[in-house]
Parts: sequence; C-alpha cells; structure tokens
Amino acid sequence: MAIAATDTAAAGHPALNGLTVLERGWLSSNNLLVHAQGDEAGAWLIDSGHLAHAPQTVALVQHALRGQPLERVLITHLHTDHCGGNAALQERFGAPIVIPPGQADAVRAWDLTRLGHDDFGQRERFTIAGTIGAGERWRAGGSDWEALPAPGHDPHSLMFLDAANGVLVSADALWANGFGLVFPELVGEAGFGDVAATLDAIERLPVRVVIPGHGAPFTDVAGALQRARSRLAAYVADPPRHARHALKVLLKYHLMEVRTQPLAELLQWAEVAPLVGRLWAGFGRHDSESPRAWSEAMIAELGAGGAVKLRDGVVVDA
Ligand SMILES: [Zn+2]
Repeated sequence: MAIAATDTAAAGHPALNGLTVLERGWLSSNNLLVHAQGDEAGAWLIDSGHLAHAPQTVALVQHALRGQPLERVLITHLHTDHCGGNAALQERFGAPIVIPPGQADAVRAWDLTRLGHDDFGQRERFTIAGTIGAGERWRAGGSDWEALPAPGHDPHSLMFLDAANGVLVSADALWANGFGLVFPELVGEAGFGDVAATLDAIERLPVRVVIPGHGAPFTDVAGALQRARSRLAAYVADPPRHARHALKVLLKYHLMEVRTQPLAELLQWAEVAPLVGRLWAGFGRHDSESPRAWSEAMIAELGAGGAVKLRDGVVVDA
C-alpha cells in the first residue's frame, strides 16, 4: 500500500517539496522518488522494495513519475526489502541501478551467499551500472545530495543527505522508533559501536526531516535519536536480548512474506535457515535445546504480543 507522508509534522513539510515518498508496509522498504527539476534528465528512485511487491512497486513508480523518465535507481543497501524491485524496474524502465560499493563484486558475480540472500529469498538477478560511495555527491531534484556511511545495521549501508533542505534518507540506520537489526552482531562480529557512531553522525547533520527505510517521514530527530540510543543501550547490556528480538523479527518477516503457514512447516523453515542456526549457536543454546525449540518459544511470544495468530496449528501474520 502506498501512502504519502502521513506523519503530521512531516506531511507537507516544505523540505519534502519535489519528493514523493512511497510509504510501504514493513515487508517492503519505502521508495523515494526525487523528481527531475529544470533541465534534469529524469527522476531518481531510492530503494525498490521487496521482490514479493515488485509489480506493485513498478506500478507505483510509474504513476508517481507523472511522465518523467526514470534516470537512475539508487540503493541504500542490499537487503532484500530494499532492492527486491530492481530487476522489475530495470525491465520496465531500463534505468541504470547504482549501489554502494561494498557488495558490488558480489552483485556482479550474483553470489547469493555473500549477499546474504540465501536466507531471505531475493532471487531475481539484476545488473548494476556502477556504484556511489560514501562522500560522493550528485545533483537530483534540483538539490545537491551526498552519500554518507551508515554502518551498524549493515556494514555497507549508506544514507543520503540533501543538506540545503535538511532531508536525510536514513535507510535502516534510524527509524522513528529504533533501527534495523544489527546484523553483524548476530553472526559474532562487532556492530553496536557502529550503530552508536552512526547515530552520533546523524546528530551532527543539518536534518529537518528524516525519510526512514520503513515508516512515515518524521521531524522529531532528537526524539528518534534518544529512542534509538536507549534501545541500543539495552542491547549492549544484554546481547541475547537483541538476538531474541532478531529471531522474532526474522520469523515475523518470513510470515509477512508467506502470510500464513502451518506451525510445523514454519518450524521446519526455521530449522534449516542458516541465520537462525547461527543465532541459536551464538545466543540460544543455553535457553533451548535446538533452533526449532527456540523458534517455537519465540513464535509463542509473538503470539502473546499479537504480532502473529496461532489457530489450529497454523500461524497467521497479524
Ligand atoms: Zn536493512
């Protein structure tokens, strides 16, 4: 579903003039269309949503373009919910796709293991025209944009700043309520320090409106930073808490994609999902005897919190 900016403070904010925020459900990242101004060749699209929503993304972009050509598709990071529409957009519009440099070689070789897509179902191959790295600048929508590093959630992720208008495209580094899973920490690498450094970097930027990877654009940057930092502090104090949250997110995310699944099948999926196995080995083995048992406990917690429903042995996304 596409909704224009709905946050009351951000909706209609003058900084968002010339931009169309396609706010999506949580399975797909938001898409931002930066409309061409003056003699610019065409619009830029930032992030392309989930593969399961690719036809919808193409239709939404087509409508939002209002006849302008699509000049470029720019991706903040290569998680499946941010780049799943790439192949469909490429086929429909022929627009060159540009990504952060960190995983360009993996995309060129289409190495799904290195891309981390084995776990998450991005299977439509796309090609890239080039990369945009941290510190690079370009002009789009009549504004100067700069790519900034945003490690933490994903070591290769970038965020994009239009400093003159105070617009930050934060991807999954900062949401109105928190930030994306800290994936390096889930596989035994450091990541919490990077999250803190990225939040500090955001605080120093001239930001009036944040367009996050998920959820409505928001203007209360200080409040969002405070909420993110308190969540981070809780994870740093208790990393297994982050791991349990991660498993719940992975299960919920899988359910968003399949909508409904018999519990036995869902547990079978969890049992063989590589990241679930690594998570259990790193954080869950003291609490439960297997990835399957740990997943079952987390599904029960998701059910208790209302995020999923369990009916007659079938789990339903709620
Ligand atoms: Zn992400």
